[in-house]
This record gives sequence, structure tokens and C-alpha cells, in this order.
Amino acid sequence: MNLPRLFLATLAATTFLANSASADGVVNVYSYRQPQLVEPLFKAFAEKTGIEIKMVFAEKGLVERMEQEASLSPVDVLLTADVGKLVDAADKGLAQPLHSDTISSKIPAALRDASEQWFGLTMRARVVYASKDRVAQAEMSYEDLADPKFKGKICIRPGDHPYNLGLVGAMIARRGEAETKTWLEGLKANLAHKPNGNDRAQAKSISAGECDLAIANTYYMGLMQTNEKEPEQKDWAAASRIIFPASPAMGTHVNISGMLLAKNAPNKDNAIKFMEYLASDEAQELYASQNFEYPVNPKVAASEVVKAWGNFVPDTLNVVEIAKNQKAAAKLVDEVQFNN
Ligand code: FE
Repeated sequence: MNLPRLFLATLAATTFLANSASADGVVNVYSYRQPQLVEPLFKAFAEKTGIEIKMVFAEKGLVERMEQEASLSPVDVLLTADVGKLVDAADKGLAQPLHSDTISSKIPAALRDASEQWFGLTMRARVVYASKDRVAQAEMSYEDLADPKFKGKICIRPGDHPYNLGLVGAMIARRGEAETKTWLEGLKANLAHKPNGNDRAQAKSISAGECDLAIANTYYMGLMQTNEKEPEQKDWAAASRIIFPASPAMGTHVNISGMLLAKNAPNKDNAIKFMEYLASDEAQELYASQNFEYPVNPKVAASEVVKAWGNFVPDTLNVVEIAKNQKAAAKLVDEVQFNN
């Protein structure tokens, strides 16, 4: 018996958070998505099927944990907040292909793996938050953000965060490494201060007058606009409007959250039921409206809050290309010392 592995498996088993008391079986989920975003789905699924979802949440290291646990891993389903982690896990042999007509009829082919090892669940755009008071410009491109006219005006979270690596990866696919590097240098030169905080912190910085523009994901605007628990976030949101960046070379960058079936899923049948549920119209509506994201299932409409931000032209780049360029993106972010 491999003791470290046994220890890890035991550790995982003991740290799963149960969501209901009694159940007709379980699905063990590792989630990069925050509990409050996915728990309503778990609850709805449990009520429907009697199957309990147990979750381990972590912002980092879940793919690595699956690697270490290997065949003793208790995990059935991995939920991620970007395409990079899905492709990474599949490349490491941690997923198993799942052919389900139920799933493939709901999720467009461009938003799932060609070999059916992973599936997109929601889409989000990485956009510009612009100060309502201080930015008159109605339209903008990502390229504009490197224009010296915005010197000292831009806020952003650290460049090595997966959301920024996704954007930089998309830029590499569209404009090549050399131009992307120049763009990153220009963007860095325009920053109001060193990259820090999360996406919401950038909106806060705009409301505090520290910067005029920020790069952030769409759904955080919705989460702030409707935040009854922390109403100061409504003020952060109210200081900005969303601009969907687009240029002839590149539409608005879109990334996905997603799911995969773990290679050694101990509760495979239940896991498939859960994954089919997540692709369903009902869950898509719940997931997208809860999180203010765009449903991947084209039959399901975005929420009214989301629709109010307006329409946009998504970049047509396949999400796989974004994942493929993550390493090159990380290298560029490092080379230009974006965070320093
Ligand atoms: Fe997020």
C-alpha cells in the first residue's frame, strides 16, 4: 500500500463538505469554483435525484492533488473556472471521455473537447470596466489599453492569474508573441499601481478614483450590482460601466467554466447523472442566473442583469487555443515583469 496516497485519499474523503444529510449515493466534486456559486446547483440536483454532492473547494492545486492521488483519488467530477485547467487535467490523463447524447445535444461542439474529455458549462467575457465619470470613450479595444494616453489610469489583478493568462493567450493567438509582448509592456506602463487584488478589487479602485479603467470578468459586475450581503459592492459597481473590447484583429475575449469526469471516478454512474444535469436547461438557467454568466446551452437566455450590459461580438477563437497558449502567456507575463 502506498501510504502517502492512502493518506491523501483519506484526507480528501474527510474534507469533503456534505450538502445534505441523507442520500441515494454521492458524487465527489473538486471545485475551483467558489462554494456559493455551485451549491445551489448541488442542492437542486440532490432534491431531484437524492444523490448527495460532496465538495472540496480550492482556488489552487486541485489538478495537482488529483495527480498525486492517482487511482486512489475519491474525485468523480472536477469543476473549473477556466478552460486552461480542463485542458491541463485532460493532458495529464486525469479525465475520461464521456459520450452522452444528453450532454452533446446541449453544449455546442466549440465549447467541449473534441474527444469528449471536458465540457464547457458557462461563458464569461473579460471586459473593460470604465469609470462612468471619467471615461467618455464608448468603444475600446484591448489594443487601446496599451495607448500612452491611458498612462497611470489602468488597474488589473496580477498577470499570472488564469483569467489574465487566458486573455494574453488569446492575444498571442490573434497577434503573435512579439506584438503581444509589446502590448503587455504598454499595458504595464499604463498601470496606476502594481497589479493586485481580484477582479472586484479593480472596480473598487475605480470607485475610489485610483484608476479610470480596469480589466475584469463580466459576472463580477452582476455579483457586485446585486450584493445584498456587502452593499458597498453595489457602489463599486455603480462607478463603472462595461465596455466589450473589440478590434478588427480580436473580438471580446471569452473563456469558459467547465467540468470533466475524473479518470477513476468511483461513483461514475451518479457523476454522469450530475454532469447531464449541469448541461440541462434547468441547471444552465440556474447556474447562469446565479453567477451572471452566459449559458453555453444556446436555448437558455442570459439573466436580465446580464442582458442589460448589452450585446457584444465574442472573439471566434476556439477556447482550446486559449488553453494551448497559457504557457507562452505565462512566459511573456514573466518576461515583462508584469507584476513588478
Ligand atoms: Fe471568477
